Amino acid sequence: MNKHKENNSENPPALHIDNLSVYYGQTLAIEGVCLDVRDHEYLGIIGPNGGGKSTLLKAILGLIPITGGKIQIYGKEGGSTEVIGYVPQFSSVDKKFPITLFEVVLTGRLKKGLSPFYRYSEKDKQITNELLKRVGISHLAKRQISQLSGGEFQRMLIARALAINPKILLLDEPTASVDASSREQIYSLLSELNKDMTIILVTHDLLAISSQVHSLACLNERLVYHGEPEINQHIVNHLYGCPVDLIAHGVPHRVLHEHEEGC
Ligand code: ADP
Repeated sequence: MNKHKENNSENPPALHIDNLSVYYGQTLAIEGVCLDVRDHEYLGIIGPNGGGKSTLLKAILGLIPITGGKIQIYGKEGGSTEVIGYVPQFSSVDKKFPITLFEVVLTGRLKKGLSPFYRYSEKDKQITNELLKRVGISHLAKRQISQLSGGEFQRMLIARALAINPKILLLDEPTASVDASSREQIYSLLSELNKDMTIILVTHDLLAISSQVHSLACLNERLVYHGEPEINQHIVNHLYGCPVDLIAHGVPHRVLHEHEEGC
């Protein structure tokens, strides 16, 4: 199988990353990353803490300047981030802010360049209600976000990311703070959403790698692997720098092939 598909201008990949490098001042975050993500692909990204996963997502979103290389979204460089929905890390959101779940999801309708006095339209509110139904949290619409469980909070963040009707959904560790049953619900929701959009999931969860994603990228400053979501102890140990328990209960065991270097 060709893991780095040709960049066809008539049918460009959802995401095309060529030789991407990002430094924060003198600190290297990622270097020489080449990655193509097909339309409707469900990609998992794993790697050690500090390996550059969040940096990669922020670079794709245009939130940080890149040092070198290029990023194309559906064949366009820059300016196309309005087709991307982003679910940030749970820990990066202020859970004590006095706001209801409905209001948080409604803010997802805000677009760049709007007046600070923008009033939400009836259509914005109708779309928000539909999104709450879609992710199964309509009954919590009026609840303060401080009173949500981890799983409910994550589904709220997913609904908010869907408010722009994205073609690509980026998620940064959406199951990090949730219990086992909420985790199953989130994966089932993501599988459903994947019928309509490309999904890129940063995760430490081996269950997601074993049974959810369709392809896998391993990032440790460089792209160590991109291909089938198959697990090999040697590669994962190399990636994390320490032994990792690969036994995922109730899911088929998979084995990673050797990494292919270069763009
Ligand atoms: P991950 O998401 O895989 O944990 P990050 O993308 O957060 O990794 O970080 C990659 C590297 O960039 C780390 O060395 C981290 O310390 C550094 N880094 C991340 N954000 C900043 C920042 N705002 N300023 C300086 N260095 C940063």
